[in-house]
Amino acid sequence: MLVDSHAHLNFQAFNEDRSQVIARCKNAGLLVVNVGAAKATSQQAIDIADGQNFYASLGLHPIHVFDEEFEINNYQKLIDDNRGKVVAMGETGFDYFHLDMSFAKGAKSVAEIKDKQKKVFLQHLELAKKNNLAVIVHGRNGKDEPDAYQDIYDLLKTFAYTRGVVHCFGGNLSEAKQLVDLGFYIGITGIITFDKTGVLEEIVREVPLEHILIETDAPYLAPEPYRGKRNEPIYVKYVAEKIAQIKEKSVEDIIEITGDNARGLFNLS
Ligand SMILES: [Zn+2]
Repeated sequence: MLVDSHAHLNFQAFNEDRSQVIARCKNAGLLVVNVGAAKATSQQAIDIADGQNFYASLGLHPIHVFDEEFEINNYQKLIDDNRGKVVAMGETGFDYFHLDMSFAKGAKSVAEIKDKQKKVFLQHLELAKKNNLAVIVHGRNGKDEPDAYQDIYDLLKTFAYTRGVVHCFGGNLSEAKQLVDLGFYIGITGIITFDKTGVLEEIVREVPLEHILIETDAPYLAPEPYRGKRNEPIYVKYVAEKIAQIKEKSVEDIIEITGDNARGLFNLS
């Protein structure tokens, strides 16, 4: 079954035609996990969720940790009130690329930003563990701060809760392998259809299919042939097609195996 393991139909980019996009997902028989990035978009993800085609992940994105507090009681209540719809915590993690956003909100140093992101990441992990939910992890290296994925690995290893995915993976092969050894899934987006560096292709070739999830990260990162346009969940099939080429398997196999991975990880019906 085709699953888009990470999308943001809850974001503003879909305000004009959300119901049509949702209808296209349903017509395609797609399962979609909509991912929150703050309190408001987490609630929106729940509002879209039906426990059949659409599910929600709740979290405060690392680029937003200086915008608002991560209110742990509020998130616990959302989980309690929406069992069967909420399947994960996140996205959470380390983003060393958009440090400017935290400085603009009053952060004084890189150390302070990293510290705050770590504290919030740990709160997500605690809630995920307590409620038996998966965790959706975001990582992004900065030009002068290339250790986001290493820091993610270190924290996950120390915390020892390993039910989750590092989505839109942007690290190197050895970082991917470390995370897979911990038990994590590696999330592959439409970047795989246009990446010229060869790094992501090598990762897809080397990481066992049993540890790969496919995703759109819609509205961002539209795959070829829609690159540069607004992305939407049905385009996840282009990610599956590219992975099929790289793995030298049929698209049907890729859809079935990555679909089973996502359904197992998130406990989807
Ligand atoms: Zn995302």
